[in-house]
Amino acid sequence: MSSLQEKPLDKLADMVFNVLWQDQLELWAAVRKKMDSAGSDAVRTAFEGARSRFLSGPFKDHLEVRWGMSICMHCNDDNIEKNGLAFVAPNGDGLEFNQCLNCRVGLLYSLQSAKARLDTYAIALGKPNQFNKMSIYWDAIVPDSLKPFQPLYEVIDEGKWIATVSYDRNMVPRFLPTESMVFGTSRSDSALWKEQASPGLTEAVNALAASAKHQIEVALVIR
Ligand SMILES: [Zn+2]
Repeated sequence: MSSLQEKPLDKLADMVFNVLWQDQLELWAAVRKKMDSAGSDAVRTAFEGARSRFLSGPFKDHLEVRWGMSICMHCNDDNIEKNGLAFVAPNGDGLEFNQCLNCRVGLLYSLQSAKARLDTYAIALGKPNQFNKMSIYWDAIVPDSLKPFQPLYEVIDEGKWIATVSYDRNMVPRFLPTESMVFGTSRSDSALWKEQASPGLTEAVNALAASAKHQIEVALVIR
């Protein structure tokens, strides 16, 4: 932890986007601590800079690809898992959750015929299956239409993408189950979002709030 504290905010933000620290929650705890001394604006500026460096750097060639994720931009490996397709159109297009199992980053690609365009870039928090046996990812990059819903999180249960979760300023969650993401709707439809979730998902999100409070606090500031 002490070595993290010595790093400047810009560097810590780059480490988040590029998954350069194994324990992301530890990394976020260091960012949260810096927020007390450097202030919210400095944290927001650091993450804006890191996001644009990431988009124009390692991520540039992955914004639009054929078919979806095949090689990870971080580890160049093909240890890729597909976790589900939402908003499925009659022709089979939709929004697909792809992830690199090595780096634990999720890429949501909007598929149109063979073309896959980036919708959301998500980074896993904690250990695999840490939250009531589910894995939770923070959405680091989202489409403009979803910005009012930030901070956003994706939930994977037994290899299946089951929901997107949004927190309000009071850290009260709202839920969009993947099964509600049907053709003709979009994640930015407020009507799709529910205050209640299944008991299992509620427990997972409670576990996230308990162990990732620092992360959520910073995510609320940088949204
Ligand atoms: Zn990877």
